[in-house]
Amino acid sequence: MARKYCVLCENEIPTFSSCYKLKDGVICPKCYKKNQKVMPMLVWRITGEELKDKIDPSRINFRNHGYEETFEFGRIKGDENKQVIFFPDTDNEVMENRTLFSLKEVYRVEIIEDNQTVSSGGLGAAVVGDVLLGGVGAIIGSNVGKKKSRGTCAKLSVKIYLDNPMTQYKEVYFINEQKKPVKKDSDEYKQAYQSVSELEAKLQYYIRKNQTK
Ligand SMILES: [Zn+2]
Repeated sequence: MARKYCVLCENEIPTFSSCYKLKDGVICPKCYKKNQKVMPMLVWRITGEELKDKIDPSRINFRNHGYEETFEFGRIKGDENKQVIFFPDTDNEVMENRTLFSLKEVYRVEIIEDNQTVSSGGLGAAVVGDVLLGGVGAIIGSNVGKKKSRGTCAKLSVKIYLDNPMTQYKEVYFINEQKKPVKKDSDEYKQAYQSVSELEAKLQYYIRKNQTK
């Protein structure tokens, strides 16, 4: 029997567990529940892409502006040909509503897990801090990579620093479950961590590229 993967979270759906059929794929009960508000009655009549548009209408906006998605991590997406990065409208900690930025504005990226920076790179990151600030930088730097080895994760986010006077950074959560932290050996955690790592790597690439120009 062919393996089934949820079109939203991309986790494998075990052979005998229930799932919801779409026109061109399936979604897991967890994703169904999470997005119940926007789920159409006749869920089997829509495609995965249509469903993604319902969950995150900014996708439509993105396309209407003539951009084409070349990467998508969680609800962060970008068009590398046109050098833009697009953030979801919600859960911004900064008041500014702007959601579209040039990739050239990105100068630093951090992965934050349960309020601890577990990975940091780009301008002003730990290594640079060490050089500029000496002792102080070394202390700042020492927090990086010292990951608490707890069995669960309540929050996992990517903080993207922008060279922009109105919006200094955007922080986007990939896990935000204060009440019910996610187990670290779960697929949900692994998937989220993979997404933030890949996003970080991609942005690091552009930070380096734009620095050397
Ligand atoms: Zn799912």
